[in-house]
Amino acid sequence: MIRVVQTDLYAVIGHPVGHSLSPAMMNAAFDGLGLAAHYLAIEVDDLTAALRVLGDIGVRGLSVTIPHKETACQLAMKLDDTAAAIGAVNTLKRLNDQNGWEGINTDWLGAVRALQQVTSLSGKRALVVGAGGSARAVVYGLKREGATVTVTNRTPERGRALAAAFDSDFLALAEVPRRTFDILVQCTSVGLAGGLVTEVVPASIFHSGMVVMDLVYRPQWTPLLLAARDAGCTTLSGLDMLLFQGTAQFEWWFQRPAPLAPMRDALRRAFSKENHDSTH
Ligand code: NAP
Repeated sequence: MIRVVQTDLYAVIGHPVGHSLSPAMMNAAFDGLGLAAHYLAIEVDDLTAALRVLGDIGVRGLSVTIPHKETACQLAMKLDDTAAAIGAVNTLKRLNDQNGWEGINTDWLGAVRALQQVTSLSGKRALVVGAGGSARAVVYGLKREGATVTVTNRTPERGRALAAAFDSDFLALAEVPRRTFDILVQCTSVGLAGGLVTEVVPASIFHSGMVVMDLVYRPQWTPLLLAARDAGCTTLSGLDMLLFQGTAQFEWWFQRPAPLAPMRDALRRAFSKENHDSTH
C-alpha cells in the first residue's frame, strides 16, 4: 500500500505544466481556508498510467490541461452533461467507492463567468475565433447563456464542424469584417509570445462598447487586446477565464464557495513574479 496521509493532494496534470499558475491560485485557496490540502503541478505524458498511479496514492482531484482534455473525457468513469457535450474534461475527482475518476468541464463556466463580470450574454451577438478544444467550451457556454454564436476559423472545415455541433453559424474569416458583433472571444493560440493581431481577425472589426476576451494570457496584453482597447472595447484577459475555471473546480471538489479574492490575488502575484523573473 502506498498512500499520501495528513494532507489531501490535488494537482494540475498536462504537458508542459512547468509554468502553470494553478498551484499558486489553488494553494492560496487551501491555505486561506485552513484546509489540509496541497496542490502540485505534475508533468504527465501517459494519462492512463498517471491516473492509475495518482488514484493509487489517493490524490483527490485533478485539473487537466493540454494535451489530455479529450483523453480524460474518454477515461473518466463518470461524466457530467457539460463534459459529455464539449467532449473534453478539465477537472477530475476521484470516485471514493472505485479506483476511477469522475470528470466535468469548467472551462465553459470560466469563460462565461469572466464575460459576465462586464456584460450580460443573453441575446448578444458573439464571435468565437478558433475551433479547437477551448473554442468548443466557449461556444457551449455562450449558447447555454442565450447568446447568438458565430464561429470563424483559419481552417473552415473545422470551424463549420464546430458550429454545426452547437447549432451555431459559421463565417469565413474574410467575411468577418462585414458583420458587427457585441462580443468576441479569441480562442486560437495566436498571440502567444506576441503573434500578429492580423493573423486572427482584422482590427477594423473592433468598435466602442464591444467586449473582447483573449484566452491567451502570455503576454497579458496580447496584440489583439491592445488593438481592441485602442478601439474603445472592454477587454478581458485569459487570466480572468483561468481564475473562474479554477473557482468552479474548487467548488466542485469541496462543495463550498471558492475564496475568489485570495485566488485572484495569488494568480496576479504569480503572474507578476513570472514577468519580473523573465525580465531579470
Ligand atoms: P487547439 O485545440 O490546439 O486549437 C488551436 C486553434 O488555434 C485552432 O482553431 C487553430 O486553427 C488556431 N490556430 C493556431 N494557429 C493559428 C494561426 N497561426 N492562425 C490562425 N489560427 C490559428 O488549442 P486550444 O486548446 O483550443 O487552446 C487555444 C488557446 O487557448 C491556447 O493558447 C491555450 O493556452 C488557451 N487557453 C486558455 C485558457 C484560459 O483559461 N485562459 C483555457 C484553455 C485554453 P486551425 O483549426 O486552422 O488549425
